[in-house]
Amino acid sequence: MTKQTPSTSPENNPISIPQLRAVLNGRVITPDDAAYDEARAVFYGGFDRRPALIVRVEDAADVSHVIALARERGLELAIRSGGHSVAGHSTTDGGIVLDLSEMKELEIDVGRRTAWAETGLTAGEYSAAADAHGLATGFGDTGSVGIGGITLGGGVGYLVRKHGLTIDDLLAAEVVTADGELLRVDAETHPDLFWAIRGGGGNFGVATRFQYRLHQVDTIVGGMLVLPATPEVIASFVAEADAAPEELSTIANVMTAPPMPFLPAEVHGRLIIMAMLVYAGEVEAGERAIAPFRALATPIVDMVKPMRYPEIYPPEEEDFHPVASARTMFVDAIDRPSAETIVDHLQASSAQMAVAQIRVLGGAMARVPAEATAFAHRSSRIMVNVAALYERPDEAAEHEPWLAAFAAALRQGDGGAYVGFLGDEGEARIRDAYPASTSERLAAIKGRYDPTNLFRLNQNIPPATEGKTT
Ligand SMILES: Cc1cc2nc3c(=O)[nH]c(=O)nc-3n(C[C@H](O)[C@H](O)[C@H](O)COP(=O)(O)OP(=O)(O)OC[C@H]3O[C@@H](n4cnc5c(N)ncnc54)[C@H](O)[C@@H]3O)c2cc1C
Repeated sequence: MTKQTPSTSPENNPISIPQLRAVLNGRVITPDDAAYDEARAVFYGGFDRRPALIVRVEDAADVSHVIALARERGLELAIRSGGHSVAGHSTTDGGIVLDLSEMKELEIDVGRRTAWAETGLTAGEYSAAADAHGLATGFGDTGSVGIGGITLGGGVGYLVRKHGLTIDDLLAAEVVTADGELLRVDAETHPDLFWAIRGGGGNFGVATRFQYRLHQVDTIVGGMLVLPATPEVIASFVAEADAAPEELSTIANVMTAPPMPFLPAEVHGRLIIMAMLVYAGEVEAGERAIAPFRALATPIVDMVKPMRYPEIYPPEEEDFHPVASARTMFVDAIDRPSAETIVDHLQASSAQMAVAQIRVLGGAMARVPAEATAFAHRSSRIMVNVAALYERPDEAAEHEPWLAAFAAALRQGDGGAYVGFLGDEGEARIRDAYPASTSERLAAIKGRYDPTNLFRLNQNIPPATEGKTT
């Protein structure tokens, strides 16, 4: 058997590609392969990294082999499901990318309303398959996001007020841990690990399958409503979203109107609220719930209508790789002064596009006790993400001060952070994502399942050393 060494791997750690190919059911892609450039791309355009190897795994045995390889050779290991990491954690320079995107099996048990899903599926793929039975599990606002990353972070989406976070529908998981063992985890088996993966991200192992609860969600009233973004309309929108029945979840993107054909030319470049609304319930009640939003101002665009749930995920361009910087936080209220702050900062941005995304929470999500899962921000009223989108990665420094000032101006209370939207922002921000008691518990569990911190390319929880565990 001839040996090949990928050009970027350390010389003292040669990887025998033919040997690897022989043991794997999946595909190994090296810098010498024609498919390499496409395979190394992730959703965000700012991460131009060159992994030594990309392994498109087929099954849990493959996952175990790749973990062993990374462990034995001391190579950085990036785990990728849908590739949407805001921090660029699903790619690496010189390490291995364990890519789950070809693991897409889905078994739906219609009678029990449960599904076992391989983690290479995207939210859109899962939702389309479940919709064939009039069923759904809630994920986020974008169809191409992987169920792997979004579930491990928590999952805040269009069903958050009605059915809670994605993790509130997680019944069990299969996880390959740092020692290569495949564990089935649920509330009874490895309950510590099951707790940790519901919000603790990719710190504890590679999730190969998730078992979810499904809900009857067929026809919804949903879609896009575009309103002019004055401080008055923004504050009133948030108040209406808070007062709305739990069937209604909203995402309000306050932003400069892009020059898109569905927006009238006269609003291009002006501030708008591009809101996405989902009422998961009876159509008539949905129309009643949405009426107050339509009455806030004359809508610029109103595409809210009865539709099948997965239609809320429109088709996406495959070669869309935005470059962005963002900050995530939780706030208690968006009142008139906060809305003014939003308008002022968005107007002052020099970015190609500046956005403040407002998600009013509450409902089913808030009824789960904070200590029940590693996602602990159960009582947070509103999640806000502010972002600058621009053309070239080297523009980041220009937008960073604007972003920092905007986030500081909006900050209320202890701020907090949603791990799914955290960038590469340092340890203090990871601490914002996890309150102290959650952090300590996560570190203790990390110490048990990944004591050498093999899974460290993530919002990292360093393992607690023995004696320090809780
Ligand atoms: C356009 C966009 C829209 C978004 N909208 C929402 C939203 O509405 N709601 C929301 O909650 N979040 C949202 N997010 C955040 C999203 O949930 C996170 O970025 C998530 O990590 C992406 O998952 P992924 O599998 O696509 O990403 P990947 O980049 O593949 O994975 C991200 C990280 O998660 C871990 N990971 C992923 N899969 C596995 C696995 N199978 N086993 C172990 N670890 C794994 C790894 O640490 C990996 O680095 C959005 C992100 C983007 C870019």
